[in-house]
Amino acid sequence: MEDITVYSAAQVHTMDPGRPQASAVAVSGGKIVSVGSIESMQPWLRRYPYSIDDRYRDKVLMPGFIDPHTHLRLSGTYMGLDYLGPIDSAAPGGIRKGLPNRDAVLNQLRALVAEHDDPNIPITAWGYDPASQAGHLDRDMLDQISDSVPIWVIAYAPHIVYANTPMIEMIGVNDDSVGHGIGRYPDGRLNGWFVETEATALAARPVAKQVYGPNAGRAAIDRMGAVAKGAGVTTTADLVWGMADGFEPEWNDHVSAISEGTFPLRIFMIPFEPKLVKEFGSEMLQFLESKRAEGNDRLNTHGVKYVNDGSYPSMTLVMNEPGYLDEDGAHTGEVPWEDMVDRMLPFWKAGVQIHSHANGDRTLDMTLDTLESLQRIHPRFDHRFTIEHYCISSPAQARRLAALGGQASVNIYFVHFRAQLHSEHGFGPDRSEATARLGSLQRAGAPFALHSDFNLVVTPLSPLLAAWCAVNRLGADGETVMAPGERISVDSALRAITIDAAYILNRDDRLGSIEVGKHADFTILNDDPYEVAAEKIKDIEVHDTVLEGEPTN
Ligand SMILES: [Zn+2]
Repeated sequence: MEDITVYSAAQVHTMDPGRPQASAVAVSGGKIVSVGSIESMQPWLRRYPYSIDDRYRDKVLMPGFIDPHTHLRLSGTYMGLDYLGPIDSAAPGGIRKGLPNRDAVLNQLRALVAEHDDPNIPITAWGYDPASQAGHLDRDMLDQISDSVPIWVIAYAPHIVYANTPMIEMIGVNDDSVGHGIGRYPDGRLNGWFVETEATALAARPVAKQVYGPNAGRAAIDRMGAVAKGAGVTTTADLVWGMADGFEPEWNDHVSAISEGTFPLRIFMIPFEPKLVKEFGSEMLQFLESKRAEGNDRLNTHGVKYVNDGSYPSMTLVMNEPGYLDEDGAHTGEVPWEDMVDRMLPFWKAGVQIHSHANGDRTLDMTLDTLESLQRIHPRFDHRFTIEHYCISSPAQARRLAALGGQASVNIYFVHFRAQLHSEHGFGPDRSEATARLGSLQRAGAPFALHSDFNLVVTPLSPLLAAWCAVNRLGADGETVMAPGERISVDSALRAITIDAAYILNRDDRLGSIEVGKHADFTILNDDPYEVAAEKIKDIEVHDTVLEGEPTN
């Protein structure tokens, strides 16, 4: 055995229900050797060389936080740009303040123009949210800010780019251009909008070097790794492996970031099924098998991912009756729903864990029907079929999910950041208030975790803030409790960012709690989330993380 290091702490919350608290953890070779007190671990310390590291003696030590659904590689590119979003957002250099409305955004752009010296280089910004920042930007509005410096703004969920006149000229389109997604005013003039894949790609061409330069993948991973670490995360999963640059380049970016020590996380790469099928066809299972053999507990492939409706903030999820308040923007994903059983069956039979995105309750019905069909064709135990997001649901759906042996990885942040907004926009009061029904999942006995989906939707990346949302369910007004019966206890919420999140990724045998034999990953806090008032959990500062037994700060 390598030399033992004993970390002492003011309090250790192990998340092992049998031995919930401790004052010291002994680690060796990246694994936990003993948990308890310096006295209790003497049988080890008498036999092997050890040192006591008391740097955390007045801190609270928890298992490393797990965010089981992020998109670091795909979305980290935007983190290098100026931020215009509505909520406070983590960045490598610290928190960037949210801007409450469109006027604040325009003022911020005005300030950026004032300090911008080269009119040939566009101002590039990300994070605009037309739903919560009071309407879209457009060309005339941005021309008021500057008619000489090109301005390029991409929305938070990257569905739309806004441009002013000099930027439109740089993109190379004019009033006569034809193309899907190029927006126009009623009089036919270009309005500076570039909407969805084809048009946003066109709009991105002149800023490609700035936004997606040759080292953009590595830069994105390094940036997002720093952000996640700052929030106390030690493990995450990328839920669209293959979508940004392709399977091998994305994998290799992570290999290099880990080997060069710039990525202080474990990461599981979950392949996006349509890309996997397209690239590997009948060889897809062999490809995953070969990557599993190449990987380890620091970087590995896990499961398979399906996206079967749109997003909550963009109001493109698929709902049951009575549906949307106004027009329906529903989007059903790339795999036709009638093909779902056939598409999932090879993975199901091979024992590959399925992660299936369902934001709306109609999508959830379809997904539960699919799971039931898979069970009829080829019954399985402990399959850990996971509903990703689980935004709009009913108590009956929670019970059916539990009956089918499924589980949920839930985006809880929307309860605070968006549910009140969507009472009036899109979903109506009932479904908005009851977004993310954790209480129902718990009553039904369905396992669940909390995730951020950072940063493809308008949420921060902060497991403690997620836990705060789950415990308090306070709306954006800071007062209204949203569906009080869906709140959960502090302990359940902390489980959902540690051991239960490990369960969702099928790694609870190795990660998620402080137990002998597990990986020595810890999150070090300045205060105790079990002791502070419930409404203060989000304010607890993360002091450090420990990965494989080594402090990362
Ligand atoms: Zn996602």
